[in-house]
Amino acid sequence: MMEKINVPELFGSLVFDDREMRARLSKEVYASLRKTIDENVRLDEKVAEAVAEEMKEWAVEHGATHFTHWFQPLTGVTAEKHDSFIEPTRDGGVLMEFSGKELIKGEPDASSFPSGGLRATFEARGYTAWDPTSYAFIKDHTLCIPTAFCSYSGEALDKKTPLLRSMQAINREALRVLKLFGNEDVKHVSTSVGPEQEYFLIDQKLYSQRTDLVYTGRTLFGCRPPKGQEMDDHYFGVIKPRVTAYMEDLNNELWKLGILAKTEHNEVAPAQHELAPIYSTTNIATDHNQLTMEIMQKVAKRHGMVCLLHEKPFAGVNGSGKHNNWSIATDTGVNLLSPGETPYENAQFLLFLCAVIQAVDDYQDLLRLSVATAGNDHRLGANEAPPAIISVFLGEELSGILNAIRDDKPYEGVEKVIMKLGVHVLPRFSRDTTDRNRTSPFAFTGNKFEFRSLGSSNSIACANIMLNTAVAESLRQYADELEKVAGKDDFEEVLHNLIKRVITEHQRILFDGNGYGDEWVKEATEVRGLSNLKTTADAMPKLLDPKNMDMLIRHKVFNEAEIHSRCEIMLENYVKTVNIEGLTMVDMVRKDYLPAIEEYLYTLSRAVDSMKSVSVNVKCRYEISTIEKLTDLTDNILSSVEALEIVLEKLHGLDDIFESSAAVRDELIPAMNTLRGYVDAAEMLTSAKYWPYPSYGKLLFSVQ
Ligand code: ADP
Ligand code: MG
Repeated sequence: MMEKINVPELFGSLVFDDREMRARLSKEVYASLRKTIDENVRLDEKVAEAVAEEMKEWAVEHGATHFTHWFQPLTGVTAEKHDSFIEPTRDGGVLMEFSGKELIKGEPDASSFPSGGLRATFEARGYTAWDPTSYAFIKDHTLCIPTAFCSYSGEALDKKTPLLRSMQAINREALRVLKLFGNEDVKHVSTSVGPEQEYFLIDQKLYSQRTDLVYTGRTLFGCRPPKGQEMDDHYFGVIKPRVTAYMEDLNNELWKLGILAKTEHNEVAPAQHELAPIYSTTNIATDHNQLTMEIMQKVAKRHGMVCLLHEKPFAGVNGSGKHNNWSIATDTGVNLLSPGETPYENAQFLLFLCAVIQAVDDYQDLLRLSVATAGNDHRLGANEAPPAIISVFLGEELSGILNAIRDDKPYEGVEKVIMKLGVHVLPRFSRDTTDRNRTSPFAFTGNKFEFRSLGSSNSIACANIMLNTAVAESLRQYADELEKVAGKDDFEEVLHNLIKRVITEHQRILFDGNGYGDEWVKEATEVRGLSNLKTTADAMPKLLDPKNMDMLIRHKVFNEAEIHSRCEIMLENYVKTVNIEGLTMVDMVRKDYLPAIEEYLYTLSRAVDSMKSVSVNVKCRYEISTIEKLTDLTDNILSSVEALEIVLEKLHGLDDIFESSAAVRDELIPAMNTLRGYVDAAEMLTSAKYWPYPSYGKLLFSVQ
């Protein structure tokens, strides 16, 4: 029995949050820190000193002995280097000390984090800088201070820095637009995100027997079990006791860290589940999602299980993604993607809606590449996840309204009048969540957009950097155009024409149909001219397109060197990931699969010999036909493992990252697929007793 827990008491108990700050800091210090958090005002040194002292007192009271700057280098996972608070005293004892300087700035050894050539060009060292907008927390007896990670010459070496810059960009441009609509009270605009996280849970013992899972996070071999997800009996099904215990424990751990874990359910594939938090400001949501992934894995271990965050742990059943629910809101509490009550609010809503539509169309490739990884390539384009083609789903009602505006026709849903913006009230939208198109990569869901292409192990930072900045760019263009007529009589007309023009020009990105169908691929690419970047090797180089670089640089989200470095790091990551998979396959085939099949063949042939010695008339049909088929397969396995080794060798000799990522796509992955095909066929024919690795059936149905 779990003991009864008091959630309000537990929630945030390991976070130095606003409640703690207000209670512990002096009025002046608190006010000054608040100003830094809310308005991005530089923090005073004395204030930092006072905050550090109270933060340490609080942390020590809660069992912390160490502190760390917690940051998100381009490896995609979080990094930390622990220092203890101890400071020796003259009498041989220690004091627990923590200074303002230690709070504000750290100097981790940056040389072992990926920099994509940045460190060669610029200053070798990097430093971390406190992000006071994300609360400090305690994890494993360590006070963790969320920080940004930069080189000494100011280049971002992490994911947080450009994310914060993109939030500044959208804030700046949205405020310009809001001003035109007379929103004088709005001081700040920020984007919010609620990421829905999918994952698999499998038994720890079976996991540790699978070399491929241990090295690569996914299975590289395995024939399909008799039962997969075809019965649809897992989705939203009753949660098994072992999983329930896990989820309870996980919730408690997340709540302690102030993470708003809210919804949990089974997903489509066996052993697959989902966790969704309540949404929060994008940079907090990003920090929290990183923490959530870490805690999910840690808690699973306590329960004798392993939490798989890979996008495609098993072939033949659905992979895991992350749905990035995204909206823009003002500090006065208005969701700008929510249709309003008055004609003016409606026009404002439509303009923001247009900004998103245009952003997605103009920067399809940036959105696609923001979710591109070797793992996610398995999902996008397979019929389980949105396709690699980016399009926007609006739903029947909203499409009807936009079409009416575009064509100057009456909208059938309301009074039969031609809708004039700023004059007519929009009809209320039903926020019917059943009217969902699950095949769309980018769907409007009533008051937010759901970007569904993210991979389950991806940091959500990249997707939101691109989304925020691309929308900031649309808003910039609108503000430039509308500011010329601000306060003038023709403002409404210019606004109306602008909205009409955007809807007309970006019609091609709007698609409400089935995104999984082959017809859509044809229509999207051949008729509409949308991009279909199937792999990371295709998508990532688009980051360097002048159109994309100009836009990102204009909004000061990246500089030129940062863009080149990121492109290189992401491609390197792709090449390394698949390379490890290839090497793991060779290892498994040579050391385990071939010897195991051979042993089985030997048993069969001995059986034939001894049966024939009893009677020459016995046919030994099973033994002989299996021997024939399996020896054919071992021939093919050997040839394809040799072919794979040649590709791996060749790849080793390539220096240019564009060349090697293309070789991974065109040679390495096909060679791996061929090898897998033969090994999986051999698994079907080999006695389970001889097979060296736990089967798919065992892995997928082991947790009860
Ligand atoms: P579902 O997609 O399962 O129907 P919801 O639509 O209620 O569930 O929410 C899914 C996720 O979207 C949750 O994380 C929720 O907090 C988040 N969400 C809801 N409203 C917003 C918003 N305005 N901005 C960003 N995320 C939101
Ligand atoms: Mg959803």
